[in-house]
Amino acid sequence: MSDRKIYLDNNATTRVDPRVLDEMLPFFCEKYGNPASRNHAFGWESEEGVDIARDRVASVIGADAKEIIFTSGATEGNNIAIKGVAAMYGEKGKHIITQVTEHKAVIDPCKWLEQHGFRVTFLPVQKDGRISMDALREAMTPDTILVSIMHGNNEIGTLQPIAEIGRLCKEKSVLFHTDCCQTFGKTPIDVNAMGIDLLSCSGHKIHGPKGVGALYVRRRNPRVRCEAIIHGGGHERGMRSGTLNVPGIVGLGKAAQLCAEGIKNGEVDRIRGLRDRLIDGILSQLDETYLNGHRTERTPNNVNISFAFVEGESMMMGFPEIAVSSGSACTSASLEPSYVLRALGVGDDLAHSSIRFSLSRFTTQEEIDHAVNRVVTAVRRLRQMSPLYEMAQEGIDLKEVQWAHH
Ligand SMILES: *Cc1c(COP(=O)(O)O)cnc(C)c1O
Repeated sequence: MSDRKIYLDNNATTRVDPRVLDEMLPFFCEKYGNPASRNHAFGWESEEGVDIARDRVASVIGADAKEIIFTSGATEGNNIAIKGVAAMYGEKGKHIITQVTEHKAVIDPCKWLEQHGFRVTFLPVQKDGRISMDALREAMTPDTILVSIMHGNNEIGTLQPIAEIGRLCKEKSVLFHTDCCQTFGKTPIDVNAMGIDLLSCSGHKIHGPKGVGALYVRRRNPRVRCEAIIHGGGHERGMRSGTLNVPGIVGLGKAAQLCAEGIKNGEVDRIRGLRDRLIDGILSQLDETYLNGHRTERTPNNVNISFAFVEGESMMMGFPEIAVSSGSACTSASLEPSYVLRALGVGDDLAHSSIRFSLSRFTTQEEIDHAVNRVVTAVRRLRQMSPLYEMAQEGIDLKEVQWAHH
């Protein structure tokens, strides 16, 4: 067991499910037509593959197939949604609302718009990672055209009250976009019941291939329009030109279908059970250890824990066979604490002491039990070497200590 690698970094990317690969393979060397070729069988069989995928993706979120735009991933989907809506509705208003803990694929397009005549409100979050509905309501002005709030956070797993946000947006006639990379196929989503106008998702977060994703764009009540970012050929209702990535799209469709089954057949419940086993296993054996994000309103596969007095990167060296992420982001020059953890009010020290574990349908209970043991052992060993931890154990309040300065 100890020499087997364990992958607990599924919020970064996932293994392609073999059933997805099987579905994709014929679309490389046999069914290789261009789905835009309407006058021969090669085109038709490709188009059929794309149509099936479109139906499958749409049905995961209660949408109509015509409302699905295939993209190169969620980064592109978020860009089309945010910049495309800004370009199309910029006459109506120039204000956008998002939150500080969004993925960079939402934050950066919003920052770009700030440099091009738009005003953006970045809402703060509470300790559990949720926005305040009152703050959202107060931020809305007659100039607001779009709210972009993600469903599940990729670092801390916190789920936002999407249906409530959708209801408020409808009441104010503001468009609502949500980045659902971490919840699509893991948490039930219904674009109509939740008042969602635009939704992005990505293949490689759901055991599909990399480089493919989908954007849902509502067609009625209201009919939403996005200015294109990529021009040429008018594919995908003019919102995303370019020959379709047929094998990728077919894979995304199959991955979506398998996820939808997983919500119904208990697979997601099993993953959630393992998530809780991991959380309880660690928190019950280690003191000064804190779960980040919301305890229950969180994605079924995410665990994010701060281990006081140990540095995340050193901890990870203690269990090299387990793939996880730390709460530090390597920027060009230094190790920066995660901006998401910071936004929760987690101090820099604790942010650097954080580890994200993210599970998948391929995660086993044996792997979780192994991970719990390895983490507990590594943290205990590092703490034994920490004078600060020893002082804290002796009841010394570290904030009160007068350190000698040199
Ligand atoms: C992975 C991820 C993205 C980016 O998706 P790509 O398909 O890799 O471009 C955007 N938002 C969230 C929340 C993600 O987890």
